[in-house]
Amino acid sequence: MDAALAEMILAGGRVAVSAGRAVRVDLKIRGGRIERVGIAGCRTDQSMDVSGCLVLPGLINAHDHLAFNLFPLLGKPPYANATEWARDIYRPDESPVREHRSVPREVRLGWGGLKNLISGVTTVGHHDLDKFGRGFPVKVARAGWAHSLAFTPDAAARRARTAGDRPFVMHLAEGTDAESAAEVFEADRMGTLDVIVHGVGLDASGWRLLKKRRAAVIACPVSNLFTLRQTLGRGVFSRGVPIALGTDSALTAPGDLLDALRAARSVWKLPAARLYRMVTSEAARVLRLCDGEGEIRKGGVADLIVVRDAGLSPAETLLGLTRVEMAIIGGKIRMVSEKFRRYAGEGFQRLTVQGRGRVWVDADVAKLYEEAVTRLGTAFKLAGRWVRIKWNR
Ligand SMILES: [Zn+2]
Repeated sequence: MDAALAEMILAGGRVAVSAGRAVRVDLKIRGGRIERVGIAGCRTDQSMDVSGCLVLPGLINAHDHLAFNLFPLLGKPPYANATEWARDIYRPDESPVREHRSVPREVRLGWGGLKNLISGVTTVGHHDLDKFGRGFPVKVARAGWAHSLAFTPDAAARRARTAGDRPFVMHLAEGTDAESAAEVFEADRMGTLDVIVHGVGLDASGWRLLKKRRAAVIACPVSNLFTLRQTLGRGVFSRGVPIALGTDSALTAPGDLLDALRAARSVWKLPAARLYRMVTSEAARVLRLCDGEGEIRKGGVADLIVVRDAGLSPAETLLGLTRVEMAIIGGKIRMVSEKFRRYAGEGFQRLTVQGRGRVWVDADVAKLYEEAVTRLGTAFKLAGRWVRIKWNR
């Protein structure tokens, strides 16, 4: 067994058991899983003191394009639909797209992973073809996918190739026009309707069809408010269709999942508990993550984040959160803040991202930084936030 996965005990903090409730217990992790959620007193040499902190399930960002998070916002919105936007911004040989495309893809993907990790995301839904190794900063959900009806002529064949236990994810109804409203019916005829990203253009009959087909939606309000100047209405949250939250990429949405949560609260005025579930248990359901992601339970995978505890509920804590103190993925520490620096593993490197504090991450940040700076200069941003590293490792 990997030594880093052997055993750890998070002791002295509160542990979230639901959106509204946290209990003061110790958490024992072994072999990458939560072995015990028990009363205090099982402390050993492997205990980590997390007193004054709240342990939450690792967050799930249901939709991102990891390779596009160093880009600036592109386009001159509003657009009637995403196809208009995509055609308008597709200028691969012009600045700034040209320089950004010259950054090696694995470097851009690495930054996308870091954007998610520092905001407490442990699993991300990535909308593209790439493969990811174990060293990638976060877990990437396995799913079938098609870009959209407009850009993926073989969507039906792709759906047919997707294993039954995996979601099939496609951008759909990303627009405010009649064409966008009609897409859901076309996807249904083609047999590709499962998990749709956006859904802004859906009308009442479209939502009824989603419910009937037991389909789900991934909402990306920050992205929609940029490209369309509009997002889902509040009423759709009572239509009985599961809805997860996603960031989308920096091409249309500055910020990370914590920013998306705050935007979602301000636009939809939903109860904190609903928003919490949209990035934990409901997101796990939408992406069909069945290993205990999105919750803290005995036997579940140890994907956890540790944050400062101000005595609020887990959901209220999450909605006010700007900094994550520690991120654990599959029982392995992948990020720590200054507060927990003593738990940083060998090879962890320092990274400071605007508004998210200084952290140490399990990634070759210096290399990623150098590769980005060479092509983009030191003023490059990660989803709209400036980045600093420690030069001498
Ligand atoms: Zn997208």
